This record gives sequence, structure tokens and C-alpha cells, in this order.
Amino acid sequence: MKEIILDHPLVKHKMAILRNADTNPKDFRELVNEIAMLITYEAMRGAATGHIDVITPMGKAAGHHIDENNYVLAPVLRAGLGMVDGASNMLPNASIGHIGLHYCNDETDSSEDMPKPVSYYFKMPATIHNKTILLLDPMLATGGSAAAAITQLKESGAKEIKFLCIIAAPEGIARVKEEHPDVQIYAAALDDCLNDIGYIVPGLGDAGDRIFATAGPVLKKEEFI
Ligand code: URA
Repeated sequence: MKEIILDHPLVKHKMAILRNADTNPKDFRELVNEIAMLITYEAMRGAATGHIDVITPMGKAAGHHIDENNYVLAPVLRAGLGMVDGASNMLPNASIGHIGLHYCNDETDSSEDMPKPVSYYFKMPATIHNKTILLLDPMLATGGSAAAAITQLKESGAKEIKFLCIIAAPEGIARVKEEHPDVQIYAAALDDCLNDIGYIVPGLGDAGDRIFATAGPVLKKEEFI
């Protein structure tokens, strides 16, 4: 399934402000939500609609209805939380599930030097097999946590999963497509690559730290250029 990268002047405009190291946490949070709203809009293209008739002041109109109960917003903690308000602006009655993963080394396997994502929290609505899951995580970097979150959702019965991120790296897209070819990926931007610590370049830095204002001292611009 080919990834969908949003191609819209408004998204590109908002992305440039979002990426800027000088954008303050308040504006950053607002932009993450606005962009998440636009990605959700795109991810809902082709959603099933039922017909309803509505009475306008002038008469009867044929309308469309989306059953929001069929959708679950699933942020990956913690950065995914930054996308929840934006996505739920589009689907205010969708359920919200939470997925917590942390990275740890598998000390029983000496050939494994890459930390692996391990689940520490997973809470979904009681039934998800008949729902569409919109998995939210702003940065698709190595794809390790995205692939692990999707595996966990599938093990819990999910059949239809869409992955919504703000920036994707080619490495992350390749990993998710290899492990979960049935999952459609949506991103507001496709970046160049990962650096040696797994951050997306040019990216926007650490999304969670920028959303929650927990970053340490910010590097000076000259150090990037
Ligand atoms: N997570 C982030 O927050 N930023 C990256 O660039 C990669 C992973």
C-alpha cells in the first residue's frame, strides 16, 4: 500500500512553522493539533457513510452520516497525545485508546544491541475487531514502535489500522510496510533520513519534548548549519 504524503499548501505552510526551532511550545502544540486535524481529514477520505434525511428551514435534504463509534483514536504515548485534540476535532465521538511503549535492551540475547520497544500500557475499548483504528504518533522514525504498536493492536483483534504521523522517514515507512503491508500510512511530510541516534533529518527535533516543553538547552542554529 503506497504511503499518502499530504500535498497541500496549507500543510506545507504549517509544517515550516512547526519545524522552526524558534517556535514556542504553545504554538508548536497548536500546530501539531491543526496538522493532525488535516491528516485525519485525509485519512477519513473514503469512509463509509450512511444516508440520513435532514429538515432544513427550506425543506428536506439528503444528508450523510459517519458512525463515529466505528473509530478509535490510538495515540502512542507520549508524543501521540499531542495529536489527539486535532484528530478528535474531526471525530469528537470516537473512542480514545492509549498505547505506552518504552525501549529496553534484551539482555538475554547478546546478538541484540538495538533496544526493543516493550509495552508498559495498553488500553483500548472492549471491542476493536469491528473498528477502524487511527494510530497517532507524530514521528515515524525507525518504525520500531509503530510496528510494535500495530502488532499489539492486531493481537487485540484490530483488523483495520491506519497510521497517522506528521513526519515520516523512508526507513520507518519501509519497516512498517514490510511488517504490516495492510496498514495505510499518512504523513504531512516525508523527510530525508535518520541521523545516527535515530532522529529524523531535517525533522523537528524531539516531538514529545517540544509538545510538553521538556527539552534541555536547544542547540544554536549555527551548530546545524
Ligand atoms: N522521535 C522524535 O520525537 N523525533 C525524531 O526525530 C525521531 C523520533
